[in-house]
Amino acid sequence: MTRQIGVRVGFCEGYFMKNYGVKFDEGYYTDLNRRIKTDIFIQRKLYERFGDLGMGDPNPEPIPVIGFGGQVNVCAMFSARVKVTEDGSPWVEKGILKTEEDILNLKVPKIEETWPQTMFIEQFDKYSAIYGVEKVVPPGVHGVLEMALDLRKEELFVDMRLRPYLAKKLLDTLTQTVINVRTFWDKKKFGRVQNSIFAGGCSSTICSPQVYEEFLVPYYNILSDKFGGCHLCSCGKSSHLLESFTRINNLRSLHLGRGTNLKKARKVLNGIELKARIDPGRIASVTPEQVRKDVIKLLEEDDSRDKLTVVLANASADTPDENVRMIFDTVKEYGSVVSDFCRIRYGGGA
Ligand SMILES: [Zn+2]
Repeated sequence: MTRQIGVRVGFCEGYFMKNYGVKFDEGYYTDLNRRIKTDIFIQRKLYERFGDLGMGDPNPEPIPVIGFGGQVNVCAMFSARVKVTEDGSPWVEKGILKTEEDILNLKVPKIEETWPQTMFIEQFDKYSAIYGVEKVVPPGVHGVLEMALDLRKEELFVDMRLRPYLAKKLLDTLTQTVINVRTFWDKKKFGRVQNSIFAGGCSSTICSPQVYEEFLVPYYNILSDKFGGCHLCSCGKSSHLLESFTRINNLRSLHLGRGTNLKKARKVLNGIELKARIDPGRIASVTPEQVRKDVIKLLEEDDSRDKLTVVLANASADTPDENVRMIFDTVKEYGSVVSDFCRIRYGGGA
């Protein structure tokens, strides 16, 4: 049997701004009509450019997508101000939890009374009446570590060492909020809670195994147990955390950043789908020959028959077409390509 290898490509907002003049300012998120039209335009352009690779769609159907992105959707519920820019993803004002009291006073917000969820609910109701509830994509969630860092900045790591009860209080509150938001939207869209959750973890690379196991694994396990499995990301170099990942219950798939020892990862994480990240900054600047070498390195490090996906997420505005094509051409030399595009969310990675 030929080896099946996944390829997943997602471009950052700046790519569409630079190449096609698309703007991702506030109106893109607040005016769903505009967002639907923009998304259709993008799908057509992607098809013109990379349709032969399976990207884009010549005749996209209108799909209302709700939310600023998982991390912002949740952080903004704690009154962190949302910031947008024409050529990037939204983000929130960092470090709004300044004092011990700020954290001790934290409460899990009520979804139906808290912006931006109130705006999302209005959008959902309005657009599911027009397009049907099955077409609307509800707002997502993201990782508790990433959101804790947004709200508390690096002070989070000081808390972990000197005031662990504060770090745990913050992570507890965020975990419960994530559970509530995800459950609310699953029930609203599907009538019941769906299986498995993407639990983030993008910043894991900066944690030691001790910090990861004491402060994060317990929360990932709460989420994984609640939703019947989890998907995680550790999109920085992560060789030092491979053993720690084995402590997570029912881990289904894991993104690993460039420079992670994939051979060791496969040995330690036997049977788990691995998503090997390609560095978007590098793809924008190196020659196609170098891209080929990078991809071959990944495919030779993990030469098992377990599921492997090569992921280029958040490809930058300057990414040359030849380099995107080279990823596909190289993977084809090693097996059959199972492509899996970010149909809706253009940047990001999950
Ligand atoms: Zn990530």
